Amino acid sequence: MTSLPDIHRLQGTADLLPAESFQWAEAERVIRATMFRFGFGEIRFPVLEPTELFARGTGASTDIVQKEMYTLVDRGGRSLTLRPEGTPSVVRAYLEENLGSQRPVWKLFYLGPMFRAERPQKGRYRQFHQFGAEMIGAASPESDVELIALARTILHDLGLTGLRLQLNSIGSPAARHDHSEKLRAFLRQPDVYAKIDEDCRRRMETNPLRVFDCKNEECIRIMRHAPTIDQFLTAEDQDHFARVRSGLESLGISYELDPRMVRGLDYYTRTTFEFKTDLLGAQDTVCGGGRYDLLVETFGGPATPAVGFASGIERILAAAQEAGASQGTLPRLDVFVGALGDQARALIPSILARLRGLGFSADSDFLGRGLKAQMKEANRLAARLVLIVGDDEITRGQFTLRRMDEGGQAEIPADLAQWNKETFA
Ligand code: ATP
Ligand code: MG
Repeated sequence: MTSLPDIHRLQGTADLLPAESFQWAEAERVIRATMFRFGFGEIRFPVLEPTELFARGTGASTDIVQKEMYTLVDRGGRSLTLRPEGTPSVVRAYLEENLGSQRPVWKLFYLGPMFRAERPQKGRYRQFHQFGAEMIGAASPESDVELIALARTILHDLGLTGLRLQLNSIGSPAARHDHSEKLRAFLRQPDVYAKIDEDCRRRMETNPLRVFDCKNEECIRIMRHAPTIDQFLTAEDQDHFARVRSGLESLGISYELDPRMVRGLDYYTRTTFEFKTDLLGAQDTVCGGGRYDLLVETFGGPATPAVGFASGIERILAAAQEAGASQGTLPRLDVFVGALGDQARALIPSILARLRGLGFSADSDFLGRGLKAQMKEANRLAARLVLIVGDDEITRGQFTLRRMDEGGQAEIPADLAQWNKETFA
């Protein structure tokens, strides 16, 4: 009996075993392929960053910065944080690598683990994985459309159907300033104030727009009566939004307008969007994004418009599974080598080396078990062919090659040098 270890994996994290890892690798392959088709190049940035990057980038009033970051102090006394999202790092790298001086527009994507200290539940983990894309340098409504089309294409390519696209514009700072005033006045009304929770009372002071992002049922109900941003958009905001919408319509991408969808990040300006699925219950957002025209400046760079999105891989794979779309299963083994007797067993390493050298996947039983157990192992590996090597066969100078699907068998020379690809076709 095996005893359990006394060290356990952290809550909200996962071990992926080979069958599942294979599906992840397949999903990542699809994501990269579609990103390349859209002209996005991959960027890889550190998992550990200065805490200040997120405090300023993600925004001090966000839930992420307020209560979800894994922050530690390094040996030099510096505050570091495990990245909770990718956008601030991409912008930091854009400035640090001086990308803006090389060409006017950069299309970058990333893929990897993110960390947030949230309450673990279905679809919500502490180490989760995102892919995301950012277009930095373009202000046009067409660039918003490009990002939305990219996200939608990847989600489709991964087998997600029946997605709903929700769209909003949270305008420019001028529009938000006026809206925030009205929103505060609304939230300060005694009958409203009495019903909103502690967090939202704090949000009311720091960034009242955040109250729209509250997950508390009562707050959501009250906010149905709150003034929404659409009434405050400037003429330029409205024009931009109209062009994003007509761009989506020209691509046949349908959407729903949701004037209360503000997203959980402080840096958004104008367009915000989310893709939702009906296949997942409560955590139904598989992708979220928007325009962030002021973030580059926040980090001390020149005025540089940008737009991007991020998408959660765990939720996508769960939804794809619900939709009956699989990312595939582990490939079958080409040749299993079964050995009987000591002389045969001694030949196994060179037989495996020869088969692998010819480009086949090849494996064997390393336990010296009987033929029955070895055939069972071959079946578990879904081997296409089983090569049987016994002391008899060695004497005869012929090995037996059994075809597992058709059921027939053939003799092949025991001289490995005579083998070629056709021998095992
Ligand atoms: P939510 O409203 O679900 O908390 P969010 O607004 O915090 O999401 P973003 O920061 O925009 O989400 O992240 C984009 C996507 O990453 C989400 O739509 C979701 O698919 C995924 N995601 C975010 N947090 C988690 C998590 N803790 N576990 C798994 N996936 C997550
Ligand atoms: Mg969140």
